[in-house]
Amino acid sequence: MSIMEAQNSDADTIIVGGGLAGLTAACYLGRTGRNVSLFEKASELGGRGTSQDHSGFQMNRGIHALYSGGKASEVLNELGIQYTGNSPNIVHALHGGEFYKAPITGRSAVTTNLFSIGEKFELIRLLLKIARMNAEAVKEVSVQEWLDNNANHPGILSFLEANARTGVYSDALDLVSADLFIERTQTVLNNPVIYIDGGWKTLVEGLRESAEAAGVTIHTNTEVAGIEVDRGTISGIRLKNGEKKYASSVALATTPQQALALLPEDTSTQLADLVEGMTPAHVACLTVALRRLPNPELTVVQDLDQPRFMSVQSEYSDVAPEGGALIYAFKQLDPRNDDPHQGSDVQQDEHDLEALLDEAQPGWREVLVKRQFLPRIQAVGMLPTAETGGYSGRPRPDVKDIQGLYVAGDWVGHGFLADASFGSGREAARMILDLPHQIRGTATRG
Ligand SMILES: Cc1cc2nc3c(=O)[nH]c(=O)nc-3n(C[C@H](O)[C@H](O)[C@H](O)COP(=O)(O)OP(=O)(O)OC[C@H]3O[C@@H](n4cnc5c(N)ncnc54)[C@H](O)[C@@H]3O)c2cc1C
Repeated sequence: MSIMEAQNSDADTIIVGGGLAGLTAACYLGRTGRNVSLFEKASELGGRGTSQDHSGFQMNRGIHALYSGGKASEVLNELGIQYTGNSPNIVHALHGGEFYKAPITGRSAVTTNLFSIGEKFELIRLLLKIARMNAEAVKEVSVQEWLDNNANHPGILSFLEANARTGVYSDALDLVSADLFIERTQTVLNNPVIYIDGGWKTLVEGLRESAEAAGVTIHTNTEVAGIEVDRGTISGIRLKNGEKKYASSVALATTPQQALALLPEDTSTQLADLVEGMTPAHVACLTVALRRLPNPELTVVQDLDQPRFMSVQSEYSDVAPEGGALIYAFKQLDPRNDDPHQGSDVQQDEHDLEALLDEAQPGWREVLVKRQFLPRIQAVGMLPTAETGGYSGRPRPDVKDIQGLYVAGDWVGHGFLADASFGSGREAARMILDLPHQIRGTATRG
């Protein structure tokens, strides 16, 4: 950046992307008095973490739950963002066309008729073992390998496999690192999973209010076309309309693929290489808003035979008008064959999800108000895989090759799903604030 440009900087920091990660970074930076501008290409903030109102049904972009006890709840608490909601208290397992009460607590593990006595003992033994484990120690082992080595009864193996698929948002248990599965199981054993009143828009609105109160300037409907780099240092961004905006630091809070598209060619090769080698997780989501719930007995269903899961979130949170029901179903996919252009069958996925609703909620079609099918939505920017050493294979927020450039999102740093977005948004802000004093590391991974 030239001296003239530095004097005419439009902001100290520019944030690209108004999803959970970008809004988090904006809140922390704005509160220190920095001049922060955030650019979001969509007409509304929130990215994949928002919800839309359809006749009083607050529909998230596919199934969402707040896994409390992680970085998301920590950041929301630090920023003073209020939300309410509840946890499901009963889960059913679908196996061989029959529904069984699934063991989700110590008591239900003893009373369930899904397992024999021997299987119950094995499940309790394994959960106690997981609770005491150091997740990092198994980062180079796949979930499948860990389960094969630790579960003896076939019934326990398939139960844990089904839970793992739902927990890691992927059918590729032979790829995904066991550190993710172990850590998530530990979190869920100790902390409630919360369905949020008003949908996830509640969090986005809270973040927006917090950012604006901190003086952040938010531009929606404004697409960034690229970043501007001068001799290895960031100087600002270029908008789609050709306008340039100058800043001493820029945070790209987008998906990895969107971040890659903003980099100038031939720079930041390490980040580009890393993004190109990443394994994202896409899922197929079917969401239905109903006038009434056909079967109140089956509110949360974990399929043990196919990679499917269903939840009636309106039973536990205020997301539907009086008497109505909002149901989410999703299918976990294998990233090696989830590309519809390569023969992956989107129609089959939709049919499989409808079939799950037919089994658990027969008659749902007759009371349908609104349906939303998202055939391939990116639920995780970078799956921690055994091959890349689990979370340790993820990039850090500071981009090594370009001074002043940062990244944040569900593919950056330690944490899964929104935990990574909130955590890396906060971490990027901390790094930006420390910039003058920081000895800039050489590692891009960490
Ligand atoms: C189906 C599904 C289920 C999920 N379930 C859960 C769950 O249960 N629990 C949980 O914790 N997390 C869940 N997640 C993950 C969570 O939604 C995401 O981790 C989080 O919303 C990602 O936020 P982000 O800010 O990192 O990215 P995004 O939400 O993708 O935000 C990036 C933003 O950048 C904008 N943008 C991109 N390029 C540009 C550009 N050039 N110029 C300007 N703006 C740009 C985009 O429009 C977008 O708004 C789920 C995700 C999905 C899809």
